[in-house]
Amino acid sequence: MAIEVSHLVKRYGEKTALNDVSFRIETGEIVGFLGPNGAGKSTTMNIIAGLRRPTSGSVQINGINMEEAPLEAKRQMSYLPEIPPLYLDMTVEEQLLFACELRGMTGKKGELLSYLEELCRRTDVAHVKNRLIRNLSKGYRQRIAVTQMLVGEPKILILDEPTVGLDPRQIREFRDLIGELAREHTIILSSHILPEISSVCRRVLVFERGRLIADGETATLQEKLTGRKSLQLTVAGEPERVELALRSIPGILSFTRVPTGEADAVSYQVDTSLEGDVRRELFGVLSRNQLPLLLLKPVEFSLERLYLQLTDEWAEESGQAPGEEASEV
Ligand code: ATP
Repeated sequence: MAIEVSHLVKRYGEKTALNDVSFRIETGEIVGFLGPNGAGKSTTMNIIAGLRRPTSGSVQINGINMEEAPLEAKRQMSYLPEIPPLYLDMTVEEQLLFACELRGMTGKKGELLSYLEELCRRTDVAHVKNRLIRNLSKGYRQRIAVTQMLVGEPKILILDEPTVGLDPRQIREFRDLIGELAREHTIILSSHILPEISSVCRRVLVFERGRLIADGETATLQEKLTGRKSLQLTVAGEPERVELALRSIPGILSFTRVPTGEADAVSYQVDTSLEGDVRRELFGVLSRNQLPLLLLKPVEFSLERLYLQLTDEWAEESGQAPGEEASEV
């Protein structure tokens, strides 16, 4: 177990920023923390990284208790806060040598430099090692910050909103870099941007007003939530006949007519039970009724839909508007 978080509570005066948050992350997992601003993602990361103490609850990193052995626990990981900790007036090499010092790495300067050279090759920044950080683009600065995280070979990487302020190309390059690192590291990254999480993380933890409101693989989360899967369907024909055909198939739980771009055709979102696959039967029924099938495809799972659904459901249960700041909980 790489990270085990038990019953974390964090209060700032009257305000409860985290309310009984527990989860476990296995070695090698890449986990996304998702949630709107103020949901508690940074607070959780800060506590895991040992930078803030929880009001109550505990954190174990590779089995080491953060409260009992903070230095040993912190040695296992690297944390990248939202604003990368870089000295703009240092060159890349100076910054990384400084990181070696902070990590307590001893050795001759020459040895450290060749170690750093290898590290820079892994993150593709070797060609800028003599540049001042001030003169580098935001994308490169972020890569330097990640290179710095790797100094000392920690196996757990925690990144808080790592792509904020990057342009689309830089975001893609950054995702590729994370994908590379994921082969050898356990990674947590946070974002309030949904596609970012779904493109790199198999598992997602959804935070809302200091609580963990969902934890699981994106696909199973949806199934757990809705208990159904959906198909998108376009058929040439009159709606009455198509709907009669749809009603005759037991595996179809419900359907909703949606706008279609095709003349003389109708489109539906069809919800089916999780068990079985109605597509063959649907095709047969439509063709027997001489209703030509123009399109039939599973509705892609949308993390955005899940997220809105989760936060809405939670708001309904708690009587608060979604996104409203947690006050006294
Ligand atoms: P963001 O993306 O905005 O950083 P987040 O999900 O990371 O959001 P946190 O920064 O963890 O959220 O904040 C959780 C809650 O705790 C927020 O309501 C925030 O206002 C509050 N909070 C955070 N730090 C402090 C502090 N030092 N003093 C008082 N309240 C704080």
